[in-house]
Amino acid sequence: ELEELGCEAIRVAVLDLEAAKAIGEIKKGIHIPLIADIHFDPALALESIRSGADGIRINPGNIRGKEGLREIVELAKGRGTAIRIGVNSGSLGRELLKKYSGPTPEAMVESALSFVKKVEEMGFFNLKISLKSSNVLDTIRAYELISERTDYPLHIGITETGTLLPGTVKSAVGISSILMKGIGDTIRVSLCSDPKYEIIVAYEILRSLEIRKRGPELIACPTCGRCEIDLQWLAQEVEKRISDIKVPIKVAVMGCVVNGPGEAKEADIGVAGGRGSGIIFKRGRLLKKVVETRLLEEFIDEVRKTASEYGKSS
Ligand code: SF4
Repeated sequence: ELEELGCEAIRVAVLDLEAAKAIGEIKKGIHIPLIADIHFDPALALESIRSGADGIRINPGNIRGKEGLREIVELAKGRGTAIRIGVNSGSLGRELLKKYSGPTPEAMVESALSFVKKVEEMGFFNLKISLKSSNVLDTIRAYELISERTDYPLHIGITETGTLLPGTVKSAVGISSILMKGIGDTIRVSLCSDPKYEIIVAYEILRSLEIRKRGPELIACPTCGRCEIDLQWLAQEVEKRISDIKVPIKVAVMGCVVNGPGEAKEADIGVAGGRGSGIIFKRGRLLKKVVETRLLEEFIDEVRKTASEYGKSS
């Protein structure tokens, strides 16, 4: 389901050997890289790599045993498996917390770079790094600092952001601030909600920054005293009914004919509400007038027609 929505890499928590062995089975059913998230037990990392995980995410500081990390690194090297060194502000070592008087960005960076050094000394360089905190400003600062000190790919995101609405805002503010500095190679939106929203929100962030375009962009006005139709309902219905379209067309749903088409003239296809009717406009030009009871159906037909023309010269 997530792959269909545009997810390009997926991570699963591996809690026991049975889970590690299941990686091979999962991979048979998907077409995107699968990353195993490992804590504490090196045997789980080793089994995940043997089962075909494309990458593993570890926090080297909590891998048990003196030889555990070395064994993981040696096997990953032989198999070409990438390793993500993931540092969370909540799991920093005691010494660093004391040195920096808390889980500061500087402490996260020092922790990550010391693990990187350890792994590099074992002759391993197929690495990426993440520094996650639920504090947006600390996360931004941590990525700024580390990007000045390493060229490894950086996986960015704000962790434990909360439920859908506040989590979306925090993720958008944090991730886009980091991306706007030219930092970041992969992103993860973390929400305490259905995981499909993580992909949807991620694409909205990338679309806003014009980094990626996928699927329709819905433009809808906030309504005002001029609006004479139930625009919230119409916009939500349109959003639902066009969510399967993959091409990046702009679709506008506007409340009135006075300002609607003009405000949304960049849209490929749009609708503007009137009294008991609405007009459908295409690239700013009037296409047809439709009675309100038929407006949704006719508009969806026109959106699909516009999507099917995408990429062909008009
Ligand atoms: Fe108001 Fe019309 Fe603008 Fe919507 S498009 S905000 S209804 S003026």
